[in-house]
Formats: sequence, C-alpha cells, structure tokens
Amino acid sequence: MKIFNTLTMTKQEFVPIEPGKVSMYVCGPTVYNLIHIGNARPMIVFDTFRRYLEHKGYEVNYVSNFTDVDDKIIKAANEEGVSSEEIAERYIAECKKDMAGMNVKPATTHPRATQEIDGMIDMISTLIEKGHAYEKNGTVYFATRSDKNYGELSHKNLDDLRSGFRSLKVSGEDEKNDPLDFVLWKPKKEGEPFWTSPWSDGRPGWHIECSVMSKRYLGDTIDIHAGGEDLVFPHHENEIAQSSCANGVPFSHYWMHNAFLNIDGVKMSKSLGNFKTVRGISEHYDLQVLRLFMLSAHYRSPLNFSADLMESAKAALDRIRTAADRLKELTEKGAETAMTAEELQIAEEAKKFIERFDDRMDDDCNTADALSVVFDLVRFANSQVADTASRELADAVLKVLVELTDILGLIALPEKVDLDQEIEELIAKRQEARKARNFALADQIRDDLKARGIELLDTRDGVKWKRI
Ligand code: AMP
Ligand code: ZN
Repeated sequence: MKIFNTLTMTKQEFVPIEPGKVSMYVCGPTVYNLIHIGNARPMIVFDTFRRYLEHKGYEVNYVSNFTDVDDKIIKAANEEGVSSEEIAERYIAECKKDMAGMNVKPATTHPRATQEIDGMIDMISTLIEKGHAYEKNGTVYFATRSDKNYGELSHKNLDDLRSGFRSLKVSGEDEKNDPLDFVLWKPKKEGEPFWTSPWSDGRPGWHIECSVMSKRYLGDTIDIHAGGEDLVFPHHENEIAQSSCANGVPFSHYWMHNAFLNIDGVKMSKSLGNFKTVRGISEHYDLQVLRLFMLSAHYRSPLNFSADLMESAKAALDRIRTAADRLKELTEKGAETAMTAEELQIAEEAKKFIERFDDRMDDDCNTADALSVVFDLVRFANSQVADTASRELADAVLKVLVELTDILGLIALPEKVDLDQEIEELIAKRQEARKARNFALADQIRDDLKARGIELLDTRDGVKWKRI
C-alpha cells in the first residue's frame, strides 16, 4: 500500500513501525461552534482510511483530539456569559452527534487539551532544559533556530520567511529572539482560564497540545499524523519541532493532508462565514449522502461543494441501496436450490471486485476510483443476479457489496426498524400536536419528515408514511 507523504512529497510504500499495528493521530476541531462540512472532510477521509487499514488486517490505534482551550472558545464564552468549559462541553457533544450521523467511528481515544496540561508542562520543561525553548516575562517560546530540521515538512525557505516576518513585525512580539519562534506557554489575561506553571499562571500554545497528546496515547514515534493541508505550516511543522527535540527521535513517519473543501472556489471556513454546518446539511440530506459526496473526490484534490454534486451523490447512494435491497430480498425469497455452475462462477467474479477495490485504495487511498468499483459491482449485481437467482448467490454478491461499502463507511442496508420506530414516534407526536390544535408544530414535524425523505399520508385508517 502506498501513501503520499507530505514529508517526502512522494508516494511511499507504507511500512508500519510494528507489523500488523498502526498508530495514527488526526488533528481534531476547536470546539466553539457546530462543525462545518470543511471540518468534516478530514473526519470522513481519515475515518475511511482507518477502516481500510482495519480491512487489511491492521489493528489501528486512532487518536483524534478536541482543542478545548483557545481564544475563540473564550470569546464565545464571554459573548454568551458562560464558562469556556460549558462552550467546549456543548460543542464536543454536538460534534460527536455529527460524527455519528456521518458514520465516523469514535477514535480509540479522543483526548482533550485541558485534561493534558501536566504533560504539556513536562514537555515544555524538557525543551527548556535541552536548550530548545526560553522564557521571557512568563511566556515560553520555542527557539526554531535550535532545530536544524525546522522546515522539513512545509519545505519552506526559512530565511525568506524570516525576512518576510521581520517587515511585518507586530508590537508585543519584539521579545522573541527570532520571528519564527512560537509560543509554548502564555500568561493569562484577565478573565481567562489558566493553569499554574513554573513560568506563569497561563495556558499552553495550540501546537504543544498535539505533540503531548500524541506522545501520551501513541508513543514518541508514530506511524501516521494527519489533518487538513492548512495545518502543514505552522501547526504540523511546529509539532515536529517540539516532539523531535523533546523526545530525541523522529515524530511521525508519514504525514497525510487532505485538500480543502471549497465553496464557490474559496476555502470554507468559520472566519470567512461561507460555511455550511453538518447539522444544517442533515436537515436536507441523509448524512450518508454527504459522506459519499466527500469520497467521490481524491482526498488530496480540492472539492467544491455544490447542490448539483449533492444531488448526484444522493442518486448514487440510492443506486447502491436499491441494488442491496433487491439482493437482500432475494436472499429471503429467492430459489432455495444450491448454486448452479453458472452461479458459482458469478459468485467468484463478484469476489474479484474486492481485489479491484483494494487495488485503488492501495494507491494513496483513492476513494474516488474505489467508489467507481462499487458502482461497477452494482451494475454487475443488477445484470448478473437474475430475479430467479438462488438465495445463496444473492447472499454471496450482497456480502461483497456490504463489505466494500462498509470500508467506505457507507451503509448499503440501513437498519429499517430503528428508523421506522422513530417515524412512528414522530407521527404520534404530530397527532398529539393536532389534537392540541398546535398546527404549527404538526406542520413542522411533517416538513422535517419530508426533508428526510418521508411523506405522510392521512388515510381513513390513520396516518401512513412512505419514502419519497
Ligand atoms: P479547525 O477547527 O479549524 O482547527 O479545523 C479542524 C480540522 O478541519 C483541521 O484538520 C483543518 O485542516 C480541517 N479543515 C478546516 N477547514 C477545512 C476545509 N475548508 N476543507 C478541508 N479541511 C478543513
Ligand atoms: Zn494538531
């Protein structure tokens, strides 16, 4: 299996540190708001990569953090007049809901920065002892010049960067020895959350958080570190500097970065305000549609969000599910005879789709091509598994389809029972609302269900529903 490594800018054969095991760290969101679908891109693509590694037989230790102390969280807390903890707690819970909706598996560990402060103080102390960091007026800076490999990930010319920074120098930063030095610890300002440290009452810088959480849960050297491409510089460059200087060994063997999710050709971001939240999308689409949309592009290619592409993703998901439904029905109602010689051959051919799929995924996690293999399999199933086929054949082909979609985190056979029960409950709630003459609520429930593809029919025998 090959993956593109940002460190070497080449596709490299993946060789884990320990055979059969993979340690992987993915930088997670800063929790001060609902996540947008740009944040969802790394979640979906690296979850898919993890699922693929598991399919290949690896045991994956997957760590993804929540950054729960940050200027933006403090600002949101002040605006609402609540504590930073309350904001972080709320949006971690909301983020987990969205992840579940997108069928992103929970990480092995989801560490939170505020619970790892001791480890950060330890690593900063080590960096000071080893001459890689220095303190000025309660602030601790990393000395980039002390790291001879600084710049290795972002492939930047540091002298150019330094002179650029010098002309842009802002007041308050004058105390740094070098414009590229960055903060490891900073003193609190009035009203900010803080922790006691040897240097000041204050809080850690953002970069040190990931170095420490990665070390604590995965060890000094890990297999894969991942995140969006905006993190290459300075975040990941700084993580490498901190970890390798503190631990004295390389930090991560492979670095994977997803390209941006754009809207009208511009990066989707909270600061630009051009974002759509995952929650908002879930009001109009099954989040499986969003997942399929994300996987329809290679993770290193920019992807532009558009209503048209979402509609084609919806139609594509329907095609998979219709084929799976038909096969499922055949496994229950098809011929109970053993497979014929011809059917045995069809079952054998179906299995070959797994090899083709793996082949595409082995090429730097090419989900776009892997998805087309899934659609080839759908066409194959529709044309080769006749309505008169045996249960055994339908079952064999369905197993392949479910195995491949599952690697992509796509659910070919959604659990109908759960959904049905939820719908019945909503219908009951709507009836109650109508009895109470709360027609606004009744209409809202009807509209919500419609947005989820469920139409209500008021009949003489009561309310019925159907999928649209
Ligand atoms: P943030 O909360 O901004 O730190 O972002 C969390 C993760 O989402 C990081 O890995 C970012 O690189 C990633 N990310 C943010 N915006 C986008 C976008 N528009 N497209 C792809 N990835 C993004
Ligand atoms: Zn990080």
